[in-house]
Parts: sequence; structure tokens; C-alpha cells
Amino acid sequence: MKFASRVRNVSPSATLAISARAKEIRATGEKVINFAAGEPDFDTPEFVKKKAIEAIQQGKTKYTPVSGIEELKKAIIRKLKEENNLNYTPSQILVCTGAKQGIYNFLQAVCEEGDEVIIPSPYWVSYPEIVNLCSAVPLIIPTEKVNGFKLTPSLLKSFISAHTKVLILNSPANPTGALYTFSELSKIAEIAVRHGIYILSDEVYEKITYEKKHISIASLSSEVYRLTVVVNGVSKSWAMTGWRIGYVAGDEQIISKMSVIQSHSTSCPNSIAQYAALAAFEEREFPSQMLIEFRKRRDYILKKLEEIGISYIKPEGGFYVFFRINSKEDSKSFALKLLNEERVAVVPGVAFGREGWIRLSFATSFEDIKEGMQRIERFVRRRG
Ligand code: GLU
Repeated sequence: MKFASRVRNVSPSATLAISARAKEIRATGEKVINFAAGEPDFDTPEFVKKKAIEAIQQGKTKYTPVSGIEELKKAIIRKLKEENNLNYTPSQILVCTGAKQGIYNFLQAVCEEGDEVIIPSPYWVSYPEIVNLCSAVPLIIPTEKVNGFKLTPSLLKSFISAHTKVLILNSPANPTGALYTFSELSKIAEIAVRHGIYILSDEVYEKITYEKKHISIASLSSEVYRLTVVVNGVSKSWAMTGWRIGYVAGDEQIISKMSVIQSHSTSCPNSIAQYAALAAFEEREFPSQMLIEFRKRRDYILKKLEEIGISYIKPEGGFYVFFRINSKEDSKSFALKLLNEERVAVVPGVAFGREGWIRLSFATSFEDIKEGMQRIERFVRRRG
């Protein structure tokens, strides 16, 4: 079959594929520890489900405005104002089918063929592929462990060219858990403004931070605000991955173009899920309850990794630990053997652009984490 060149080399999402494989094995009755899933193991809160059921009963089951229902946009605006110190009007908000569609629509709206999109590595699996699907060029900047896997101003400068269109910034980051500080963001913002580069700020893990709070780069100055498109959603913060509600906030004209793209692809986000998301914004305390549990799990895993003698990067946010493979083995084969021999699913670092590393998600029960860490220990010790 002759496929279009933009899809010929696109690979499936490794995070989704491995997690699906773990669920498949589990369905056969085998006990698999799923450290691959990038979704909270907590159930969607009752108050959200209730609102969805009400929406169905009230017949809110038809198309909504393309860019989302007005009430939800208002709730998002309130949240961005109160929590991120960002001011938007309804025409600057687009509700999408997950944050992923927001990223896709944005890159479709601004990238010409050949435009470069800067992606600091390690990166979330879908960024380069979405850029490829837009016929733009993913420009991968390898960051260093000594810098906490964060993009430094000098690295950024050295990659900027006349073709640079967008910088993708993800803080807290998936898979490393890196969280950018005010001063780090200020320097990046200053460079982006000087060169007129758009910033796609993926803030989907903002509520899951441990020692420091998340800061949105868009809030640093009016200049950077104009260039930044903030992407967020309810998936991670309210355990609503399957509801597929994300949102984007940014320049009115860009949002309007993104909305046109959306009108020809998904028409609008799911109506029932939008009403459910509205309930989430009305109960903004829920994420902090999950955070208590995430912190306990993170600290336990880090302690165990130290005992086993595995080096890692301490996550300051998110629910992933990125750890180093001690042997020379490549990350895919390590992950495959761990799954085959110990029934523990993890995602190989190569999927995030970093060989020699593994991502472990702690969005799974404490009981499973204890069992899974024992299995990892046995696996690593066996290999010497
Ligand atoms: N973002 C999550 C992850 O990295 C969910 C799966 C996905 O869409 O990649 O595992």
C-alpha cells in the first residue's frame, strides 16, 4: 500500500501500546504490574459522574458549539485567572477532545511544511509524531541529566534558526518529572520573545507537583503571553483520561483557526464529557487528594531504587520516575525482558528519545508498587 509520506514513518504511541499490552495480559488472569500506564489509577470522582448522568437525562446529547460550551469556557477562564494569573476571554479558549487534540490543532494551524518545532528531549512520545503529521520538522534538543533534563538558555539559542516556529515546553515534564523554576522560565521566555517563537506550553501535569509549585510561562510577561498557547485538560488532574476533555488558551486568531480545524475533524468535544468536566472545575480540591497518595508512592519507589542501586532523576512533578539501566542493554530489550520474565510493564526510554533509560509510572496502587519493585529488584539482581 502506498501511504502519504507524512504518515509513512509515524509509529504508534508506545505509551498507549505498552499499557494496552499489559491490560491484555492481565485480562488472561495473569498478575501483571502495570508501570506503563500514563493515567491515574483512581476512579473518576462521583460528582463528575453524577453530572454526566444528569447531562444524559437532560438531553444534553447533541452537538455543542465547535469550541466548547460557554459554561465550561467560563469555568476554564476562572481557573486560569485564579490559579495561573492569566486573563482570557471566551474567544481565546478552545475545548478539545483531550489535550492531545489541542496540540494537534495548534501545530496544524501555525506550521508550514519545513517549519521547525523545537522539542527538548526526553520528550513525551507524541510530540515529534504530531509535528511529523503536520509536515513540519521536529528539532530534538537533547537535555542533560546534570541540568535536571531541562532546556537551558544556551542550548535553546544554539538550535534557533530562521525556520524555528514553535518551542514545545512541558512542565512538569513527562517522562522526567522536571519542573521549571521562575528564573528558568524567564530566560526561555526572553529568548522566545526576542526571536518571535511560539511556545506550546503543555501544563497537563500542573496539579501534580511535590516540592515546588507549577508556574505557567504565559504569566511571565505580556509579550510571552501573546506568543504562548497553554494546553491543559482534566485527564490527569481529575482521573478523567477516557472522557477526553482538554483545552487550549491563547491568541484569539490562532484559537479561531484551531476551531475551524476542529470543526472539520471532530465537530466539537463530546457534549456529555464537557458537562462532566464542568463539575471537575467546580471541585478543584480533588487533585490534592490524589497528590497525597502520589507523593507516598514516589518516595517509596525512590527509596527502593536507591536500595537496588539504580540511578534516577527525582521527579518534581507528574507521576513518572525515569531511571537508568545499569547494563549496556537497550531500553526496548530491557522492557521486553522485564515484561516476559517478571510480568512488569514499563516504557523504554527510547520512546521518549533517550536510550538507556526506563519510564516507570506510579499511577498504580501502592500494593502493586510494592510487588512491582520486588520484581524489578529480583530482575536486576539476577542479571548481576
Ligand atoms: N500521556 C500519557 C503517557 O505518556 C498517556 C498516554 C499517551 O497519550 O501517551 O503515558
